[in-house]
Amino acid sequence: MLVSAKDMLTRAREGHYAVGQFNINNLEWTKAILLTAQEMNSPVILGVSEGAGKYMCGYRTVVDMTKGMIENLKITVPVCVHLDHGSYEAALACIAAGFSSVMFDGSKYPIEENITKTQELVKLTGNLGLSLEAEVGAIGGEEDGTVSMGECADPDECKRIADLGVTMLAAGIGNIHGKYPANWPGLRFDVLAAVKAKTGDMPLVLHGGTGIPADMIREAIRLGVCKINVNTECQIAFTAAVRKYIEDGKDLVGKGFDPRKVLAPGVEAIKATVREKIELFGSANKA
Ligand SMILES: [Zn+2]
Repeated sequence: MLVSAKDMLTRAREGHYAVGQFNINNLEWTKAILLTAQEMNSPVILGVSEGAGKYMCGYRTVVDMTKGMIENLKITVPVCVHLDHGSYEAALACIAAGFSSVMFDGSKYPIEENITKTQELVKLTGNLGLSLEAEVGAIGGEEDGTVSMGECADPDECKRIADLGVTMLAAGIGNIHGKYPANWPGLRFDVLAAVKAKTGDMPLVLHGGTGIPADMIREAIRLGVCKINVNTECQIAFTAAVRKYIEDGKDLVGKGFDPRKVLAPGVEAIKATVREKIELFGSANKA
């Protein structure tokens, strides 16, 4: 069964740890993450971007694949399937398809419009027992070759969105999607503390978890971050492992060309990355 993120994040806030959101791309990704969460006895959130949803042949396919795996792999830890950075329309589509959680990213809208749209989704998800993530302050990242450092959220705007009754709130604190540039100045803990002071018990979400130093992750959790998104790091680990398999010529030996064999080192690399993050976030044995 898929569960909303509400209980897992409330427990994370009270227990001073964070639950990982690991984005999925296909069957191998989903299987690797579910098996690792089970092995570590950790709750887990599977992130699905609109692009990845399209790639996996629609949100319904994602839901059914995940439910099938939970049954077949005997996964007993709490699993949440969550839309990542969704538009308003994508959020509605995911709710209809059976997602247990959605993110509506209204950060590109003026705050009043972000509030109106978020408010409508609060009502809808609340009635269905689903969780909802909102965002204030765009998170930086690479777009067309230019890396933006990311905005810092206005703590007062964060409070206005938090007060609508969302489940969790992503606030820009200088974090970036993808690889961090060498001249990245680090997370803005002053902004995080100010957001926390205004939003009280609201679980805060840290996007762009790839490559943030461990001590900064621990400090962010201490200051109220309850959910950390990891995407790029699994991709880099997967691709490096598959590259090595091919470069070592293993695909040319015996039946080494079998796609299940070609992708197996990549799956192991995702598992190792997820294991490391669950340890760092402190969610092991919190299922
Ligand atoms: Zn993000």
